[in-house]
Amino acid sequence: MFGLIGHLTSLEHAKSVAHKLGYPEYAEQGLDFWCSAPPQVVDHFKVVSATGQTIEGKYVESCFLPEMLANRRIKAATRKILNAMAHAQKEGINITALGGFSSIIFENFKLEQIKRVRNLDLDFSKFTTGNTHTAYVICKQVEDAAPGLGIDLTEATVAVCGATGDIGSAVCRWLTGRTGVKDLLLVARNQERLENLQAELKFGRVQTLDEALPQADVVVWVASMPKGVEVNLETLKQPCLMVDGGYPKNMDATFSYPGITVLKGGIVEHMLDIDWHIMNIVNMDVPGRQLFACFAESMLLEFEKLHTNFSWGRNQITLEKMDLIGEASRRHGFKPLLT
Ligand code: NDP
Repeated sequence: MFGLIGHLTSLEHAKSVAHKLGYPEYAEQGLDFWCSAPPQVVDHFKVVSATGQTIEGKYVESCFLPEMLANRRIKAATRKILNAMAHAQKEGINITALGGFSSIIFENFKLEQIKRVRNLDLDFSKFTTGNTHTAYVICKQVEDAAPGLGIDLTEATVAVCGATGDIGSAVCRWLTGRTGVKDLLLVARNQERLENLQAELKFGRVQTLDEALPQADVVVWVASMPKGVEVNLETLKQPCLMVDGGYPKNMDATFSYPGITVLKGGIVEHMLDIDWHIMNIVNMDVPGRQLFACFAESMLLEFEKLHTNFSWGRNQITLEKMDLIGEASRRHGFKPLLT
């Protein structure tokens, strides 16, 4: 059995789908109520691999909302993640992905120091951030989509927003080591971490977002922003490929603008239908087959019987691990989303 710990993208989103999650009484409630709501298993399903192997999974809704961070409800946010992890462990799940902000909260608030949740000792080896597969999928989306738009990576400038993050730094390593990109623009807020990354890569230039966007042929968005930013489309190059891997999305609006192609980053499509409801609730275009790459990582670890925290900590994702999970991803029938 594998598990997925997820959350919704905003209070508005949570209220609009509360009935679909099976708790209609939450629909009229405000942030305070969601802060005290317990985690729940809201979906139980089977996944069949391209190899024919079948596994079972459960989705645990943590009831965390990004507004908890924006409103400094830190205790509530951390409790959501720890309680959801304890819930997954009590369900007897072998390996559970910490989706979206779950792993960010775990790391930023050093939750590894809090092993005990009520009468349970958390076993961190039963959890994965899913970030190795996410980084791999985003890199493939860049490599596979750029040529079709007339962008030759060896001539291209690629900006990574959130470059020093767990996913962002892995994407930078891959772009530097595997693709021969001409120029790499490293964007985040903390200058020291940016300089350390640049020193590690021996490549790339540190820039602000405003400096980077007009120069970029490709923009990878992997910043941990609780709310998307507005982008002035008129300042962008044409063509420009945007791969938005944020959850919630890093870019504020969906738009159609000449020469700008936006891909949903870090999303995979499975070759067979999955009998679940949860991807309807998070608004996937093809909810029976499309899912977050981090969730797919826990499926892959279950298929491969690798019951270990494959992705853990921060900035430890190697190209070798990305190769390994990428190979498993193809073997079990997952493809990076390209439309
Ligand atoms: P991390 O916390 O490891 O890294 C976040 C990065 O974003 C850091 O570089 C941080 O640097 C930067 N950042 C944060 N705020 C800003 C800002 N306002 N402007 C510029 N940079 C900013 O996060 P992860 O790598 O784990 O996750 C990144 C994103 O990917 C999140 O949105 C997450 O929800 C999403 N995600 C998607 C998955 C999928 O399957 N599609 C799976 C897992 C995560 P600094 O603080 O210095 O600015």
